[in-house]
Amino acid sequence: MSHSPLLRVELLNTGSELLLGQVLNTHLQFLADALWPLGLGISRQTTVPDGPVIREALLESFARADIVFVTGGLGPTTDDLTRDIVAELLGLNMQEDPAIAAVIRERLEKRGIRITDRIFRQAQRPEQAKVLSNRFGTAPGLYFPPMRLAGRGEALSPHLFLLPGPPRELKPMVETEVLPRLRALLPPAPNRRMRLWRVVGVPESHVEEAVGEALLALGIEPGYCARPGEVDVRVIGTPEQIEAAGKLLQTALGFAILPEEMRSLEHFLVAELAGRKLRLATVESCTGGALANRVTNVPGSSAVFGYGYVTYANEAKQELGVPPTLLEQHGAVSSQVAESLALNAQRRSQADYALATTGIAGPSGGSQEKPTGTVYIALAEPGGTVQIEHHVLQTDRLSFKNLVTQAALNMLRRALEKAPASAS
Ligand code: ATP
Repeated sequence: MSHSPLLRVELLNTGSELLLGQVLNTHLQFLADALWPLGLGISRQTTVPDGPVIREALLESFARADIVFVTGGLGPTTDDLTRDIVAELLGLNMQEDPAIAAVIRERLEKRGIRITDRIFRQAQRPEQAKVLSNRFGTAPGLYFPPMRLAGRGEALSPHLFLLPGPPRELKPMVETEVLPRLRALLPPAPNRRMRLWRVVGVPESHVEEAVGEALLALGIEPGYCARPGEVDVRVIGTPEQIEAAGKLLQTALGFAILPEEMRSLEHFLVAELAGRKLRLATVESCTGGALANRVTNVPGSSAVFGYGYVTYANEAKQELGVPPTLLEQHGAVSSQVAESLALNAQRRSQADYALATTGIAGPSGGSQEKPTGTVYIALAEPGGTVQIEHHVLQTDRLSFKNLVTQAALNMLRRALEKAPASAS
C-alpha cells in the first residue's frame, strides 16, 4: 500500500553479495521505516548485482518514480559503477570535487592508511550533484534534483539519492542528510498513522474472518503478519479510522489482544503477575526449559519467577513427585502426568501458578494413539484447580517448542483474565 498517493518512491539496492545470499538486505526495512513519518511509502524495491545492469534498473525506476534511492556501488573498486552510470544517464560530466578529496585525505591520514589514486575515484562528482556527507566512510552520498535525461526528450529524472552500501554509513547519512532534505522538499505529511494490534492464540485465518471485512468497510486496508502462536494486525489510516478499527478489534478479538505497550506474551504476563504479586513456576518435559527461558527473558522476571524445573526423564518426573504408577498406567505424555507435574511444581515452589508441558516433539517417538506432536499442557491455579489443554502440533522440533510455550503462556493469560485482580 502506498502511503502518499502523490509521490512514488522506489529503492534500488545494488550488490552481488545481496543476491548471493551472503548479506541480508537491511536497507529496505530501515528506509521504509525512516520514510514513513514523512508520509512516504516505498512502492517498489529492486535488487541488482554490481555491474552494468544497474543502468537498466535505473531507467526502469526513472520511468515510474518521483523519488529514487540507490544503495551501494559508491566505493573505490572497479565494480562500483553507480556514480558513473548515473552521470551518463543524466548527461553530466564528472569532475573532481576538491572538498570531497580533502575529506578523504584527512580521514585516511588520521587512520594511517596509505593513499592511492584509486581511493580518489570517490572524489569524482557528477556536476550538479549535491554532496551528502559521510561521517563513517570515505564515499560521500549524492543527491540529484530532477533534470532532463540525456537523449530522452522531455523526460525528467526523479529526485535521486545515491547512498553507500554499508549500513553503518547509510543510516546516519539518511538521518542527517536525506531526511532533512526531503522534509524541505515535501508538503507536510498527510495525517496518517499506523497502529498494530498483537493477537495471541488465534489462527491468522480466524483473525481475518473476525475483522477483515469490517476493516475494509472502514476504508482501510489491513495487513496481517503471522508468527508462531500470534498474529499482528496492522492498520494504516487517519486517526479517526484507527480509532474505529481499535473499537472493532476490541469487540471481535479483545479476549486475545495484548495491551499496546506489551511486546510479547511473556512481557505482558510478567507485568501482570508482578502487579498482582503472584508467582509462577514451570515444569517442562518436551519444551526442555524453553518456557522458563521466555519468562526469564523479561527484565524484572525474578519478582514473579523462582523455580523452573526441567524433568525430561521419567526419573526426574518421579523425583519431583509424580507417582510411578501414573507414569506406568498413562505414559509420560498424558493429561494425568501433566496435571501431576503442575501440582507438584506448584507445591514444591510455593508458586501461585504452575505450568507444565509434556509432549512428543518428534521426529520419532509417536504412536497411533499419541502421534508425534501430541502435547499436554497443564496449569495449576491457586486453590489447586488444574486446567489441561491437549494439542497435536506437527512441525519441526524448534517450532514445536515455540508453539507449546506460546500455548502455555496463553493459558496463563486467559486464567489471569478470568481471575479478579483482587484475588491476590
Ligand atoms: P564501499 O565503499 O564499502 O565499497 P559501497 O557504497 O560501494 O561501499 P557496496 O560495496 O555495495 O557499497 O557494499 C559494501 C558493503 O555494505 C557490503 O559488503 C555489504 O556488507 C553492505 N551492504 C551493501 N548493501 C547492503 C544492504 N542492502 N543491506 C545490508 N548491507 C548491505
